Amino acid sequence: TIGIIAVDERGDLACGTTTNGAANKIPGRVGDSPIAGAGCYADNDVGSAAATGDGDVMMRFLPSFRAVESMRAGFSPQDACADALCRIVRFYPTFGGALVCANKAGVHGAARHGLSFAYSYQSPGYDSPQVAQAVKVDDEV
Ligand code: ASP
Repeated sequence: TIGIIAVDERGDLACGTTTNGAANKIPGRVGDSPIAGAGCYADNDVGSAAATGDGDVMMRFLPSFRAVESMRAGFSPQDACADALCRIVRFYPTFGGALVCANKAGVHGAARHGLSFAYSYQSPGYDSPQVAQAVKVDDEV
């Protein structure tokens, strides 16, 4: 899945995801990507999140929604991502997935479990996109 979060100069937000890669194109499968709150979620008062990974697991936890709600409660974007993944890992220790978040101010962060994950970000202050690594969530949460 490719996830996108956009924050404009007024702090207005949008997000989107592709509907995953060919590996999961089982006829009839919807997956998490098109489900709001699972694949991605934006709340214009708070921030936005986008997820990738094992969608059959993630759609049971709505990690994008949860991460945005955690940012509303005061979590940093990175901590919100890590917390949402930890809640999945408690039930599915071999889960593979990642989450990226940004708040209205454009502060961003990401977390991962069971896979590597880097994301790129761009703002008017940069000549070219920058790359950041997601923090790894512990196996024992
Ligand atoms: N989340 C996608 C799915 O399970 C797969 C992916 O992110 O690569 O449909």
